[in-house]
Amino acid sequence: MISGSTRVAAVIGSPVTHSLSPAIHNAAFAASGLDWVYTAFEVVPGAARVALAGMRAFGIAGLSVTMPHKDDVAAAVDVLDPVSASLRTVNTVVLQPDGRLAGYSTDGDGFVASLREAGRDPAAMRVVVIGAGGAARSVIDALARNGADRITVVNRSPERAGTAAALAGHRGHVGSIDDIAAADLIVNATSIGMGADGSAPHHLPFDVELIEARHIVSDLVYHPLETALLAAARRRGAVAVDGLGMLVHQAVLQQELWTGRRPDPAVMRAAAEHELARRAAPGRNAV
Ligand code: NAP
Repeated sequence: MISGSTRVAAVIGSPVTHSLSPAIHNAAFAASGLDWVYTAFEVVPGAARVALAGMRAFGIAGLSVTMPHKDDVAAAVDVLDPVSASLRTVNTVVLQPDGRLAGYSTDGDGFVASLREAGRDPAAMRVVVIGAGGAARSVIDALARNGADRITVVNRSPERAGTAAALAGHRGHVGSIDDIAAADLIVNATSIGMGADGSAPHHLPFDVELIEARHIVSDLVYHPLETALLAAARRRGAVAVDGLGMLVHQAVLQQELWTGRRPDPAVMRAAAEHELARRAAPGRNAV
């Protein structure tokens, strides 16, 4: 039951009402027996600094940060962990006992955790990352920190590809779709396929004929859960890793930062799947 001593966490973003994070975090708080509650705050673009002042004033213990505020929050918190300092982006804020706001970026490590959950370790892998936006940059940085051998970035806008590849130092390169032939892992970090009917063939980031059975194919898009890319990867005998794993594992890391306790990823995943299924039910609005 929510009481006067219940601790509050929330996601800030715009738009934010579609976020799966309340379902994920509240399920884990309940399963852990923690007196915490998680909600969502619509914060208009440009108002991140005001939202952080509100967080401090209300004693909100933790925030998740989503589009369009991740970069503004990185510029406004008091301290940044090394990952968020290097990426200049924040997806997690912790209100410390001394009143300072600490920023973290858990997306990339969440991605690596989802790969490991699928039985794959990025160490020594050759990776092609398609996309160079915020999600791609987090993934590239985490892959490099976790020992990927070669990270090739392919993006519609080549200048963004160069900036993203540079995050991986000497392991980062700008390349083309042809590099898929020599890759172990292919990551779709573009928004192509998002919100689409998973069976629609034109919602694909590249020609799926390039996928071989030895590949691991990861799609950061999680709506739909089974994207056209993942369906094609499975058909071609490859290992398919969906984007919900990354979403769940970045949330696991967030709760650890806020509460000091590790939540159960299975509880979080079940809550997210339940929420996605509920929204997909006839007569409901989609995500
Ligand atoms: P973003 O910063 O806006 O970047 C979007 C990327 O997609 C850019 O590289 C962009 O290329 C590319 N792109 C978009 N439309 C394209 C098209 N029609 N053709 C070719 N390239 C296209 O977005 P983001 O935050 O990185 O998010 C990317 C995706 O990852 C979204 O679907 C998001 O939902 C998902 N995501 C998932 C998780 C998770 O936990 N699973 C976390 C974060 C994000 P240009 O640079 O050329 O514009």
